[in-house]
Amino acid sequence: MPIHPRTRLRGPWLLALAAIALLILPRLTVAAEPPAMPVAMPIVIAHRGASGYLPEHTLPAKALAHGQGADAIEQDVVMTRDGVPVVLHDTTLDAVSDIAVKFPGRARADGKHHCTDFTLAELRTLALTERLDPATGRQTYANRFPRGESRFGIVTLEEELEFLAGINRSTGRTVGIYPEIKSPAWHRSEGHDIAKAVIDILHRHGYATKADPCHIQCFEADEVQRIRGDLGWQGKLVQLIGGKDQDRLVTPEGLAGIAAVADGIGPPIERVLDPAGNPTGLVEQAHAAGLVVHPYTLRRDRLPSWAGSFDDLQGALFAAGVDGVFSDFPDLTVAWLRRSNRRPE
Ligand code: CA
Repeated sequence: MPIHPRTRLRGPWLLALAAIALLILPRLTVAAEPPAMPVAMPIVIAHRGASGYLPEHTLPAKALAHGQGADAIEQDVVMTRDGVPVVLHDTTLDAVSDIAVKFPGRARADGKHHCTDFTLAELRTLALTERLDPATGRQTYANRFPRGESRFGIVTLEEELEFLAGINRSTGRTVGIYPEIKSPAWHRSEGHDIAKAVIDILHRHGYATKADPCHIQCFEADEVQRIRGDLGWQGKLVQLIGGKDQDRLVTPEGLAGIAAVADGIGPPIERVLDPAGNPTGLVEQAHAAGLVVHPYTLRRDRLPSWAGSFDDLQGALFAAGVDGVFSDFPDLTVAWLRRSNRRPE
């Protein structure tokens, strides 16, 4: 028996209408409700990688930070003797490597082994370790990765950028970079223009404008000016702020001066929260100047005395209105932001 055309069409048409309704109705419903998410969506910057779990500035620490949901991953950068930017926090190697064993007799008069005294080929022979506290002779954070175990090596800035771009590609999730120009004046006295070397590499790897997922950070205010001025960096730029010698940077005039060249400030937590854990007002002052605020550093295993728990510290910091934070424990910071509706599930 022939099937009437109307009968033949009814099934598919009903299915199509149902599908359209399923696509549209939830959106209409969501649009009719007030937004569930507050406007502020602070970013999580993995401080030296997921350094609460693996030795700082090693590729495994960076991979873990990526997997834990960090929005950006930090690179501290210093120069080798042969002018290669490598990813290390200190300009000396003693606290995080076996250099004293591998290169006896190569310390300076200060008793330390300086990165700029060693070629990249020499540095590649070192084993990186969990950080040592020279005052106690033990690792700085007792419950972190056991010092001296397994095998970790120094990487160049370019190797790390390739590594992170590779994970971005294989996971389909883009995580930003956050390179710090370490001690530019000292590097200049050693014959290296570190800021220029880093910017050249960033440009080669596609980081050039404020639309690109990259912040350059530096403590030295003269160098921040030079990075934006003479060196012509067009991407995002953050003025780091340290101790009392940089108090002038957080005055209204100081913040206005920073805002003329930079996009944000990176103060220590102690400048955002007072000794009782209450906001100091710096975040509001910086926002009024047009600057974002990314304080350092959230550490579960080094809490301020007023904080009863890591979540106390995280709660107070985000309640103060910061736009992002450096964390040694990116997973815990991401989890806190999700629980408080400052980040999608
Ligand atoms: Ca840093």
